Amino acid sequence: MSDKYDVIVIGGGPAGYIAAIRAAQLGKKVLLIEKDKLGGTCLNRGCIPTKAIIASINLYNKLPLLKRYGLSACDIKIDMKAVIERKDRIVARLCRGVEHLLKQNKVEVVFGEGKLIDQENITVGSQNFATRKIIIATGSSPIELPGMPFDGKQFFSSSDVLGWTDIPKALDIVGGGVIGVEFAYIYSSLGTEINLYEALPALLNGMDKDLSKSAEDLLKRKRVNLKLDTPFKKEMSCGRSLICVGRKPNKINLPATKDIVYAGDASGGIMLAHAAYEQGMLAAEGKSWDQKNIPMAVYTHPEIGSVGVTEKEAGDRAAVSKFPLSALGYANAIGETEGFVKIVADKNSEELLGIHIFGSGASDLLSAATLAVKKGLKAGELGSIFQAHPSLGEGLQEAALGIVKKSLHSMP
Ligand SMILES: Cc1cc2nc3c(=O)[nH]c(=O)nc-3n(C[C@H](O)[C@H](O)[C@H](O)COP(=O)(O)OP(=O)(O)OC[C@H]3O[C@@H](n4cnc5c(N)ncnc54)[C@H](O)[C@@H]3O)c2cc1C
Repeated sequence: MSDKYDVIVIGGGPAGYIAAIRAAQLGKKVLLIEKDKLGGTCLNRGCIPTKAIIASINLYNKLPLLKRYGLSACDIKIDMKAVIERKDRIVARLCRGVEHLLKQNKVEVVFGEGKLIDQENITVGSQNFATRKIIIATGSSPIELPGMPFDGKQFFSSSDVLGWTDIPKALDIVGGGVIGVEFAYIYSSLGTEINLYEALPALLNGMDKDLSKSAEDLLKRKRVNLKLDTPFKKEMSCGRSLICVGRKPNKINLPATKDIVYAGDASGGIMLAHAAYEQGMLAAEGKSWDQKNIPMAVYTHPEIGSVGVTEKEAGDRAAVSKFPLSALGYANAIGETEGFVKIVADKNSEELLGIHIFGSGASDLLSAATLAVKKGLKAGELGSIFQAHPSLGEGLQEAALGIVKKSLHSMP
């Protein structure tokens, strides 16, 4: 019996490796089973690779503006092979980091497909491992459209696209959620002619309407052909179609119990890496998860960031303040005046309900915004905290002051 593990984690993505580390910190004997690469979708096929490519694209987009900043350069070109190689180096370095972290925390790792035999036994190939608790963190898989399986020729998943070293002349993007919008931003910046199909009437469904509208305006400006309210059909394909219509949890055929816990995308909740981190940690600690106020960012330029309820969700309770970044000294100094900070508060209590940002640095501004919304601060409290000057954070303060009619840098 001494060989029995306290915890076995299946899946080495954000939910799984964090669950394993946290369980080991709590003094448990832990085994993590991973069938592919440590770091999961996030590190290998999701968050990090897309952001590494977007970092190249953002620089590329900025180069034609050098003159405005008093600079000049010639012979500006993009080499997609080099962009992808840089992305691959970053991913490899971070995967080694996860491996090192697990080792330092004394988590044993076995590579191979974990199969659940019963509540206490898991096999990997011919090996059997016994355990007291199982954390299933097997992630999710991209959904295919009927009659359009991912074939690597005409219909592609986001994982396929991340390996492309050519720049397609034309590309359909099917799905106007976060992944579709980020890929539309990347490829429109590279001059690809894009048709973006979304079955619903707006992009980024579920986000505040001002953010959806800003994303639509941004992509239209980048000459993306937005086809909203238009379900995609096979015969509409231009020859290369990226299908990003959502992801389905990778379930394992045992229901959750006290000692079998799902974490991350596999749980079927919010499919975001930081949600997976949090669920992984709580699963190891035996605590349940509160899905409220999970921040969310879209890495276009300007970025999009959101936490808490939208104006529509707040309904009659809503008091709304919107502060334009063009009124900030710092936004002007760095040439990033496009966008706004929008605050939704309770009109009676002035409690912050949601913060929605379109602007440079929105993903970083979300840290203060999330803190304020999660802690239930009132608009006046956020407004009373002076931010460094000059900084984009002043936009948050100003928008909060707008709720209590004290905004300093916008017209009364
Ligand atoms: C293109 C793209 C961009 C994204 N960008 C962002 C972003 O910017 N921000 C954000 O928060 N989220 C982003 N996401 C979502 C994020 O990647 C996921 O929410 C996150 O990876 C979920 O973590 P997880 O640990 O639950 O699952 P995963 O990361 O999918 O990890 C699951 C792991 O389990 C392994 N596994 C599965 N079955 C078995 C088995 N039977 N035995 C052993 N191992 C198994 C898999 O190989 C995998 O490594 C993006 C996703 C995509 C596709």
